[in-house]
Amino acid sequence: MGRWVFLNGEYVPQAEAKISVFDHGFLYGDGVFEGIRAYSGRVFKLTEHVSRLYDSARGISLDIPLAPSQIEEAVVALVRKNELHDAYIRLVVSRGVGDLGLDPTKCPRPQVIIIADTISIYPEQLYETGLEVATSSVRRNDPCALDPRIKSLNYLNNILAKIEANTVGVPEAIMLNGQGHVCECTGDNLFIVKRGVLITPPTWIGILEGITRDAVIECAKEELVPVQENIFTLFSVYASDECFLTGTAAEVIPVTKVDGRVIGDGKAGHITRRLIARFREYVKREGVSTAVYEP
Ligand code: PMP
Repeated sequence: MGRWVFLNGEYVPQAEAKISVFDHGFLYGDGVFEGIRAYSGRVFKLTEHVSRLYDSARGISLDIPLAPSQIEEAVVALVRKNELHDAYIRLVVSRGVGDLGLDPTKCPRPQVIIIADTISIYPEQLYETGLEVATSSVRRNDPCALDPRIKSLNYLNNILAKIEANTVGVPEAIMLNGQGHVCECTGDNLFIVKRGVLITPPTWIGILEGITRDAVIECAKEELVPVQENIFTLFSVYASDECFLTGTAAEVIPVTKVDGRVIGDGKAGHITRRLIARFREYVKREGVSTAVYEP
């Protein structure tokens, strides 16, 4: 089905939503983006996603030509216009059209694009059996070079790791930083559980500060599970009792095998299960409604 796309303030049919080949988002990956979910007509953590978009934009000195409230309104309007109930929303702000040099000052007009579509997710069975993942030889971008907290249009670092995952036939790859500390996966944050404590790498070591990561930390607090943000190496993952990934698309998904080692008893752990259940409750009640207000 053809959908509507928000393109610089206009709603245009998908087939007509086009961007110039001179856009620096295309030529250089110069821009920022967000991936957001709507559940049963509610956009989950919309304000948090829009706020992260603005933080990313500040990180690359990009002025978004709309106010955060206008972006939020456009997201809600687009989901409604596309008659979507459960949706995946992609927000993109690119540097805009410039010349063939990389100077961003030659790009006077950043482009704001919002796409809302259905989402393809992991099969439900994997939330029981867990994923197998492998460690990539590709190190996560050094925050001193390109901080992974900037959700930029340049995802080659992650794509290179994804290619390795594909090569060994697993759906996700763990990425380490230059010092060998566990960072995150190509499109998900990573958590381990050891002796009842939930542990995840701190954001400063070079990871995206995932919105789902934050939501799961909230869920853990409600479940009275102690949470630590600590650096650790692969040994801690191999020796963990439980491991899981978090992300807007994957939600909370168990990991039961890492680099050929079985994690815990090889099944989704009991704290992981509790967090999956609590997160699923959370997405039902939190979120900005896309329903039209009818008095
Ligand atoms: N890390 C990376 C590299 C990602 O691309 C994503 C997905 N946006 C995440 C973590 C998870 O972030 P979130 O929970 O905000 O989707």
